[in-house]
Amino acid sequence: MIRENVTALLKELEGGNAYSEKVTLVAATKTRTPEEINEAIEAGITDIGENKVQEFTAKFDAVHGGRRHFIGHLQLNKVKYLIGKTDLVESVDRDELAEELAKRSMKAGIVTDILIEVNIGCEESKSGYPLEEAYAAYERLKAMDGLRVRGFMAMLPIAGEEEYLGGLVDKMRALYDRAKAIDSNIEYLSMGMSGDWRLCVRHGSNMIRLGTAIFGERHYPAPENAENAPSDTNTP
Ligand SMILES: *Cc1c(COP(=O)(O)O)cnc(C)c1O
Repeated sequence: MIRENVTALLKELEGGNAYSEKVTLVAATKTRTPEEINEAIEAGITDIGENKVQEFTAKFDAVHGGRRHFIGHLQLNKVKYLIGKTDLVESVDRDELAEELAKRSMKAGIVTDILIEVNIGCEESKSGYPLEEAYAAYERLKAMDGLRVRGFMAMLPIAGEEEYLGGLVDKMRALYDRAKAIDSNIEYLSMGMSGDWRLCVRHGSNMIRLGTAIFGERHYPAPENAENAPSDTNTP
């Protein structure tokens, strides 16, 4: 099942996005076992993303290969567990988080690649900079030693007319293009989940994060503590 899903998705993505850019398929691996994740990697998945630091850490050694993304809401006191272990932190949604990542990266003598998260639908349940503040945030974060801004990430509202949602992706693409025009590090616009990735790719996303479309429905374990609580969004 996983193998067939990955094969079909990679085939469909072969032509790239609306700008003929390569689209990176990131497997969103929350609740999935290392065995399932390894199966996806064997089928051709190159990038994987976790939402929770605890899951990221627990599966780290049992998963073989894959560029490691962090895609969930990140608490300041958990930053230290990710330093040096991520290829891309997609969910940088506030200055104090950027500052903590920068400080700890510098201390470790490394540079951490990040995306700036934008709350494109202005949703209270979601994290991220408001669109109007995102470019200024980009300029601030770009100036921080220890960080390298690689682009932007956003989640579309679950519901909405296709025209409205497509328009939100267009706005994100315009933000991405504005930064990319002056900054060769800017390479990723991460938008698209199982329910909306085709729309996002049609409107210029070049990185999509899929869970259900690769692994099937998610089954959350009975919560033992807050870390295991269901979280389909990246809210705390
Ligand atoms: C879970 C998750 C996804 C993937 O969700 P699906 O609907 O299962 O594809 C993508 N991005 C983030 C931030 C997620 O938490």
